Amino acid sequence: MGQLKADLFNDEGPQKQTVVSVLLPLSVPGPYDYAVPHGMDIQHGDFVIVPLGPREMTGVVWGDASGEVGHNRLKPIQEKIDAVPMSGVARQFIDWIAGYTMSPPGAVLRLAIRAPGALEPAGTRTVYRLCDVRPSRMTPMREKVVAVAEDGFARSTRELAEEAGVSTAVVRGLVDAGTLEPTTLPADAPFPSPVPDFNPASLSAEQALAAKQIRARVIQGGYAAHLLDGVTGSGKTEVYFEAVAEVLAQGRQALILLPEIALTGQFLKRFEGRFGCRPAEWHSDLSARERKRVWRAVADGSAQVVVGARSALFLPYADLGLIIVDEEHEGAFKQDDGVSYNARDMSVVRASLGGFPVVLASATPSLETMVNVWSGKYDHLVLPERHGPAVMPAVGAIDMRAHPPEKGEWVSPPLVGAIADALSKGEQAMLFLNRRGYAPLTLCRTCGHRIGCPECDSWLVEHRFRRELACHHCGYTAPVPRTCPSCGAEDALVACGPGVERIAEEIVQKFPEARLALLSSDSLRGPAAHEEAIRQIVDHEVDIIVGTQIVAKGHNFPLLTVVGVVDADLGLENGDLRASERTFQLLHQVAGRAGRAERPGRVYLQSYMPEHPVMQALIEGRRDGFLEREAGMRERTGYPPYGRLVGIVLSGPNPQQVNALARELGRMHGNAEGISVFGPAPAPLALLRGRHRVRFLVKAARGAPVQDYVTHWLSKVKIPHAVRVSVDVDPYSFL
Ligand SMILES: [Zn+2]
Ligand SMILES: [Zn+2]
Repeated sequence: MGQLKADLFNDEGPQKQTVVSVLLPLSVPGPYDYAVPHGMDIQHGDFVIVPLGPREMTGVVWGDASGEVGHNRLKPIQEKIDAVPMSGVARQFIDWIAGYTMSPPGAVLRLAIRAPGALEPAGTRTVYRLCDVRPSRMTPMREKVVAVAEDGFARSTRELAEEAGVSTAVVRGLVDAGTLEPTTLPADAPFPSPVPDFNPASLSAEQALAAKQIRARVIQGGYAAHLLDGVTGSGKTEVYFEAVAEVLAQGRQALILLPEIALTGQFLKRFEGRFGCRPAEWHSDLSARERKRVWRAVADGSAQVVVGARSALFLPYADLGLIIVDEEHEGAFKQDDGVSYNARDMSVVRASLGGFPVVLASATPSLETMVNVWSGKYDHLVLPERHGPAVMPAVGAIDMRAHPPEKGEWVSPPLVGAIADALSKGEQAMLFLNRRGYAPLTLCRTCGHRIGCPECDSWLVEHRFRRELACHHCGYTAPVPRTCPSCGAEDALVACGPGVERIAEEIVQKFPEARLALLSSDSLRGPAAHEEAIRQIVDHEVDIIVGTQIVAKGHNFPLLTVVGVVDADLGLENGDLRASERTFQLLHQVAGRAGRAERPGRVYLQSYMPEHPVMQALIEGRRDGFLEREAGMRERTGYPPYGRLVGIVLSGPNPQQVNALARELGRMHGNAEGISVFGPAPAPLALLRGRHRVRFLVKAARGAPVQDYVTHWLSKVKIPHAVRVSVDVDPYSFL
């Protein structure tokens, strides 16, 4: 891309200055112009350090100058950083996302360079190798170190000490004696190369066919989108691993995106089993050091496969040749804060810009994806059967009107019976409730006061094990009060409704002999705790599992035969656009936990509306019929994916100020073909983190220029400093 060499030999005559635009990771409208000092060799995509007011900042040379600033007022680029330049495709991608999500390009760039220090040289570390010199005095401790080092590999003093089981002082003694000689290695340990044919899986006929089709697209090259559609346990992972193997054989890079919650040690082990080593990982838990290491290795191409959460999409790939989006229907791919992007949709854009295939995998594809399949935009690869001996579980509803639980309890007699039956056969049972804590509401029996969050328009959730009340929106916590904060009555506060902790308490009372595991993000802090809990279940150290959606993800529990959904109606309550779709996806996934090995599984949905289409579709296993019905409703009403939405939230500490701006905006929106504006209306969460919130919803026909419309509309008013305007294109949250 555009070589802009400053002319070294232009000393005579009027000097012609080279000017480029540099994008900085800031929420400003666009790049700024900077002068290229004579003698500096600058290309588009180079990382540079430039002055900005009193500061210095790292930015990326974005393109030719805008010419908005007179040459005499231009500041020069201070330094060109010695790093792999950002590719043209990566820059195009950032501009594309900025335009689509209506975000400043610098805010998107910030996502792409979020590994502080990654642009600095990696540095070196000293390691030691055994040589022929033997120390004059040999001790048993020293013998151990020599024995470790005898394989010829270079190690740090700490590694040698750990492997030999001695102190580092012993190792240093051998260094001083000349037995270990120092060498220098890059500070970043290199990523091992996954081996395409290390351990290929034996595939079923359907798997082999699907794998062959994706491989063919990888070999052929160019953009293509596939939906890999198969029930839980049908072996989608083995299929897309074949596509990854093909990309590796071509020497290119692959990205596997997973919802953060599904990025487990179990998945990484599967990858290792197939390819002989672990991939590079990218998620919110990485240390700053590891972030830098991954970022650099992705940039120079030495990390060939990245398995990561949504932000892995923005890593500086040297030669990306494939993206897999596993569990593509997951809401976790949507980022709601800052730049509101959907990593699933942006993966398709990235593949299209980069000219390579993308594979979306799911057992319950999103309606957005299915519509693209129906219209022929995506290839549809179907894996119909469960891989191996298991069959799909039988799903039934328990009508809670006919089989009510005891007062103050939530598990109905038929479900209690099913659990008892499973336990008597030495099998396991799981109860699912997607609600953390003990009780979602604490109420005063004397005055009716409900304890709410002081910062948000929401009730505090009781967490009995931690003995506190917590706001699940802002993180506010307080000890559980002994007296009512409103009327002062003692011992009058009662817990209303169940969370998983309360279900666990009920189960302990009903099955005092059974060994119980409670799995929620509160009880499982970090991946290690998660993995240990999984191991206990697999090794049958646990009889009954009670959990939130953390248990819904693809774990294999061979003895688990009964799954009970405590409140199947829960997700339908909030009534947003995707309530039915999401409830179906979540419950289908939970149901898929039952009977994954030789023992058939049974799933019980506790519901007060078993006739609801979602329950009926789950019971009858009619996924496609359900999706077609949903699609019909959305098409009739013009909602996504048949139309488009943009959510706009105004928020600020002063409600009068927020409302005044909302009224002003409400008067300003013009008429445009195919676009309608709803609002202003108080947001369902009218107070969040101390900020008052008002919403607009813009609904547009497909193809209507909704971004231009909203940009023009918002530009008509002056937004006070204290009020924030958040724009969410294709929103998933309507709170
Ligand atoms: Zn009270
Ligand atoms: Zn709160």
